[in-house]
Amino acid sequence: MTDRIIPLLDERVVAVRPPLPHELQAPDGRVADRLGRPLRDLRISVTDRCNFRCTYCMPKEVFDKNYAFLPHGDLLTFEEITRLARVFIDHGVEKIRLTGGEPLLRRSIERLVELLAVLTTRNGRPLDLTLTTNGSILARKARSLVDAGLKRVTVSLDALDDAVFKRMNDVDFPVTDVLDGVQAAAAAGLAPIKINMVVRRGVNDQEIVPLARHFKGSGHILRFIEFMDVGSTNGWRMDDVLPSAQVIQRLDDAFGVEPLDPNYVGEVAERWTYRDGSGEVGVISSVTQAFCRDCTRARLSTEGKLYLCLFAQRGYDLRNMLRTGASDAQMSTALGRIWQGRGDRYSELRSDETVRAKKIEMSYIGG
Ligand code: SAM
Ligand code: SF4
Ligand code: SF4
Repeated sequence: MTDRIIPLLDERVVAVRPPLPHELQAPDGRVADRLGRPLRDLRISVTDRCNFRCTYCMPKEVFDKNYAFLPHGDLLTFEEITRLARVFIDHGVEKIRLTGGEPLLRRSIERLVELLAVLTTRNGRPLDLTLTTNGSILARKARSLVDAGLKRVTVSLDALDDAVFKRMNDVDFPVTDVLDGVQAAAAAGLAPIKINMVVRRGVNDQEIVPLARHFKGSGHILRFIEFMDVGSTNGWRMDDVLPSAQVIQRLDDAFGVEPLDPNYVGEVAERWTYRDGSGEVGVISSVTQAFCRDCTRARLSTEGKLYLCLFAQRGYDLRNMLRTGASDAQMSTALGRIWQGRGDRYSELRSDETVRAKKIEMSYIGG
């Protein structure tokens, strides 16, 4: 198939428009990319908007009142998302994560959860459906999300200290409201909850031990994420990254921790446990220990572009296919071919040059 490259807005710059395939190929659930990696996880961004302005993700100077967020008509509808989800499942996807922007800001998100929660994998198992949120309106939404069929949730929280947290979210949002959200989610049946902390050296690394102490023994799993060079607006420098090995050292000094085996091949977080048996913690070392070799993740942007890597510079316009009358079989054939051509392994190749390259923003394709 011949790809056509079309220019789009700003950093959402270029997208490939796959033509409608004529020769069809039935999916067998085992599609593999050029490095032999299957397609197992799909992250779906449901909005590019957010009520936070985390300095490492949506810095205020860029995402201000003049920023051109996507107009409503550009967004995939819930029916379009569900249709695409089925096509991905046919190729082997078993896990779907809703993200954003802030996914709970998408109006009637529960309706989408309802539509996805009833899908099953090729083996007839329920889909592993989860959502990543900043927790700001989780206290209000937890019950309705569970009623809609959500089973798990990940909440981002970068500090326990209010002043540090407010500096990071940059909209003066208090820690207590996020903690209330975590509590409400647990009460509604979403426990154990994963809590993600992005660590920025010199900004919030002093919060590692207090956050660990807070969640130790709660049943929730705190994970420390290395600050990544996603997008082009967050001014990333290697000096800002606190390697996970140092995070573990601090946890070991404070509490005593030992490693656990991974739950499955390709698990992104490295698992650790407190020696006193009071629970699990994890580290995600995307910068210092790239895990591209086992990366089985695809990402679907808010307006239906498929990205094969978090650091991709261009996407594949699936919405155009949907809206120009492609059949499910054509969508499936096109997706299979796109995945078979995938060779992305950005984190393994990271260099000064790639860090400076123009990349899509995290708030646009989701984490
Ligand atoms: N708004 C939701 C939230 O914050 O959980 C979902 C979207 S957010 C883009 C998904 C995850 O990406 C969050 O846990 C966030 O902390 C993380 N993230 C954003 N920018 C990052 C960066 N530059 N490096 C590492 N993680 C980042
Ligand atoms: Fe919003 Fe999440 Fe990005 Fe923070 S990390 S600005 S909460 S999308
Ligand atoms: Fe996957 Fe790309 Fe991240 Fe590597 S850099 S783990 S290929 S998303």
